[in-house]
Amino acid sequence: MEQTLSIIKPDAVAKNVVGQILARFEAAGLRIATTTKMQLSQADAEAFYAVHAARPFFKDLVEFMISGPVVVTVLEGENAMAINRDLMGATNPAEAAPGTIRADFADSIDANAVHGSDSVENASNEINFFFAQREIY
Ligand code: GDP
Repeated sequence: MEQTLSIIKPDAVAKNVVGQILARFEAAGLRIATTTKMQLSQADAEAFYAVHAARPFFKDLVEFMISGPVVVTVLEGENAMAINRDLMGATNPAEAAPGTIRADFADSIDANAVHGSDSVENASNEINFFFAQREIY
């Protein structure tokens, strides 16, 4: 069964909409294989987003991701990666389709409520970044 990684970012955690976002995953047929709330360190955020290290927004992205706790979840189901990306909506909430998580809960391209793996290969790497196999079931 396919797995993907979701992060509910500090803005959405601060808005107290964690349950509403997790409920959307379940309503779409995805199963929560594991979920945990954590405070990322600067080193965590820099390593997680290393692929973006050369981008002009990298510093802002890292600062934002450590500005408060996040909720990291492994979602499981058929086509889990693509289904989660559809639920999230476009990176820029101003361009996100109505009814998507980012349209409903995000404020800006920085504070955009959720992260979701963008390929099955990246999903596997991102899941291994946060979790040991025995924590996912
Ligand atoms: P995602 O897969 O939709 O989250 O988008 P990306 O992987 O392309 O970018 C990772 C994160 O970096 C996004 O979720 C945004 O928070 C941030 N980001 C991406 N592009 C920009 C940008 O042009 N400006 C700023 N400030 N942040 C950006």
